[in-house]
Amino acid sequence: MPYNFSNSAQRWRDDDTGRFVSNDTVVENMRTLQTATYDTLDNLTRNLYQGRITVAQWQIGVASELKDAHLAQSMFAVGGRNNMTQANFGRVGGVLADEYRYLTRFANQIANGDISEAQALARIRQYGNATQQSYYREYANATPNNEQIYWRLSPAEHCPDCLDLASNSPYKPADLPTVPGAGQTRCRGNCKCTLERAV
Ligand SMILES: [Zn+2]
Repeated sequence: MPYNFSNSAQRWRDDDTGRFVSNDTVVENMRTLQTATYDTLDNLTRNLYQGRITVAQWQIGVASELKDAHLAQSMFAVGGRNNMTQANFGRVGGVLADEYRYLTRFANQIANGDISEAQALARIRQYGNATQQSYYREYANATPNNEQIYWRLSPAEHCPDCLDLASNSPYKPADLPTVPGAGQTRCRGNCKCTLERAV
């Protein structure tokens, strides 16, 4: 990825063309990271149900992938590791604490035999889906003062909550009620909504 982050504009610039990278392209890159996370979580869960790893190994593997994924998403939003502040790390840590708590409950239910493989695969996908919030939260937070944030619907589908969030756009970053993937919309991020800054 021949991108360089402009700290003054808070946007990625393409080294080859010298132009800012479009929001759609940045979101596409974010989703590529997310797809890798889906694959890792999916493989871990299939290995568990095929008896290749124990529930404890699965839980450690999932926790480690979630940590890497949430950190990678937030770093991508702020322009790389060097731009990460204690506040950025703190917000990621808060999300991970919640995710680990849900994961412990999930692991206990699997250990008790309460969850089929199909159910587990569907549920672990939600954890992958939730990693996008770490991108969007930091993206929203880093919005320059003269810009506002639009909640953009994907063409595919939209739940009533996302429709409301889109129609009430734009927002000042501090007024944005939630971010895609944070689990506070009925779709829990399945709507594939995006955020976009505009002056
Ligand atoms: Zn939705």
